[in-house]
Amino acid sequence: MAVQPPPADQRIVIENAAIATVDAHDTEYARGHVVVLGNRIESVGDGPAPGWLDNVVRRINAEGHLVTPGLVNTHHHFYQWITRGLAQDNILFDWLVALYPTWARIDDRLVHAAAQGSAAALLKSGCTTAADHHYVFPKDGGDILGAEIEAVQELGLRFTALRGSMDRSKKDGGLPPDHAVEELDAILAASEEAVDRYHDASADSMLQIALAPCSPFSVSTRLLRESAELARRKGVRLHTHGSETAEEEAFCKELFGMGPTDYFESVGWLGEDVWMAHCVHMNDSDIAKFAETGTGVAHCPSSNARLAAGIARVPDMLAAGVPVGLGVDGTASNESGELGTELRNALLINRLHGTPTALTARQALRLGTMGGARVLGRQSEIGSIEAGKLADLALWKVDGIMHSSIADPVAALALGALPPLALLLVNGNAVVEKGRLTTVNEDRIAQACARAAKELAARPI
Ligand SMILES: [Zn+2]
Repeated sequence: MAVQPPPADQRIVIENAAIATVDAHDTEYARGHVVVLGNRIESVGDGPAPGWLDNVVRRINAEGHLVTPGLVNTHHHFYQWITRGLAQDNILFDWLVALYPTWARIDDRLVHAAAQGSAAALLKSGCTTAADHHYVFPKDGGDILGAEIEAVQELGLRFTALRGSMDRSKKDGGLPPDHAVEELDAILAASEEAVDRYHDASADSMLQIALAPCSPFSVSTRLLRESAELARRKGVRLHTHGSETAEEEAFCKELFGMGPTDYFESVGWLGEDVWMAHCVHMNDSDIAKFAETGTGVAHCPSSNARLAAGIARVPDMLAAGVPVGLGVDGTASNESGELGTELRNALLINRLHGTPTALTARQALRLGTMGGARVLGRQSEIGSIEAGKLADLALWKVDGIMHSSIADPVAALALGALPPLALLLVNGNAVVEKGRLTTVNEDRIAQACARAAKELAARPI
């Protein structure tokens, strides 16, 4: 059962908190309040909340806590929750070739379990909105997209399901095995059906669909072109992997006679309605094209490090005006599955070139909140704490042993260990309390995921 919005007239009051709003001016309050009315933020400001408020069902004394917008995850592969810890020491192409045969045996039941594991890890690390890129649809796999969506709705995470696809297999010069891909016409029909069935474009939306052919080395040029046409006809966004590794760049140059960004441009895949994961191997001209067209980037620092892919030029992208958000990426290449820790990893990795101001703590927080909201096209609804926005909020405990001596609460979050999550509101609902999920039994999810991982590993190839 999907989590329902709270009554429209009920209020939750949070007081005495440090607040980082991540609004246009980076407004912060050392000791402020947030009032939630129904599923929206009614007010945020300095000092205590107004005394006249009625129908307050919960009043929280948040002394020693930091309130931030809920984090926004812009790239993931939920199904990988049950294929973690495999191919531990490979670069992307070898890692993919090692894992494709296992992934090609998944079905809707296993994806349901994996999606709950992934969504749980995101929620427990402060994430309130996530995009998930699912691109493996075996012929006898059942209703995988439906299972994934149902799994997420039970946990109460705001969701963008990316109907992914692969149609370029080994026989066509691609990387995936022949049995792991779909036919182009079937992909387009299923993509259109997914939009018609699930996409909710309203401001309060808990569920959106975007179209997401997997990568230049696993999809045909025709699929990229026709997916873009379909997405624009239906009014949904486009997503794919781009410029992730040096090997991908070499692949594109050999097959298409140009690098990935020029290739994407040639097939209508740059624009404000497009975002791409990784974008590690980008030259100045590529970054300029992303900036000119408003094409977004999902920066996935842990996954890029795990696969030795390189360091994305995030400071240069931000300076050029490219929209950038953060992504966990699939948990087969980032076993942690936590979005909160990506703030710290993004900050640290982007300083490795030798520039201490490459990314500040507040910029890291902005990437993980407003940056992600913009990349998903939801910047007017989520991503900052402002009156009228949806009530997606994280309340971090920063007065415990791990954080009480850190001078600045935002630094405690972005430089320190990930603080305990005292409360997570999604759409005005408390879906995490004191670090535990409230909507489901998380021990049961852990057991179901362990069983699913074993079952998948034992399936014959
Ligand atoms: Zn990915």
